[in-house]
Amino acid sequence: MLWNVEQAKKWIKRLNDKIQENKAYLTELDQAIGDGDHGLNMARGLQEAANKIADSHYDDLGSLFKDVGMTLIAKVGGASGPLYGTAFMKASLVLKDRKEADRNAFVAAFSAALDGLKMRGKAQVGDKTMIDVWDPVIAWMKSHETIRANELVDLSKEKMEDTKELEAKKGRAAYLGKRSVGHLDPGAVSSYLLFASLAESFEK
Ligand code: ADP
Ligand code: MG
Ligand code: MG
Repeated sequence: MLWNVEQAKKWIKRLNDKIQENKAYLTELDQAIGDGDHGLNMARGLQEAANKIADSHYDDLGSLFKDVGMTLIAKVGGASGPLYGTAFMKASLVLKDRKEADRNAFVAAFSAALDGLKMRGKAQVGDKTMIDVWDPVIAWMKSHETIRANELVDLSKEKMEDTKELEAKKGRAAYLGKRSVGHLDPGAVSSYLLFASLAESFEK
């Protein structure tokens, strides 16, 4: 696999489209177990990030990821902005000066992103957060020589759906304790959209 700047741009553009399409849905999910702003937070941040990269020229993947990360940190309030922003910043260090990523660089970048999420949020697998999608997806990437788009979509969707039965231990939903059971985690759903749009960027 060779994943280039054009594909990274396509990813963020598709992610922004999906987030705008699902803005009301993400808000609804966050109204059930949080403060109801996840749709707004993500829609604002991704629109800014998509605008920024559409207007810029990039010689390497690292600078594109850095712009996305800085935009998310600057424009998104709440937990999700600094979390996703840190993920993109950590990945940008791995992709510095790379015009394209082969399979190993790609996996190393997403692995660094996950490390950034864990460092920033201190959540574990099972805490009902975006980590419940990210951790198994990155483990799957690490253990598969070929990163197949359909498998990425299916796995991230399955892990997103599995957050429904979990009790929240981190983030605002943790205040609800057992009452958080039976609801999808909003950040797990936006993470599924992130990986589903990443899969779409594999086609050249
Ligand atoms: P806020 O909760 O501050 O209003 P958002 O609503 O935008 O922020 O984002 C909520 C999502 O952030 C949650 O659904 C969860 O997936 C994720 N999240 C919250 N806290 C953490 C954490 N400590 N580690 C990882 N993810 C977290
Ligand atoms: Mg919220
Ligand atoms: Mg909030």
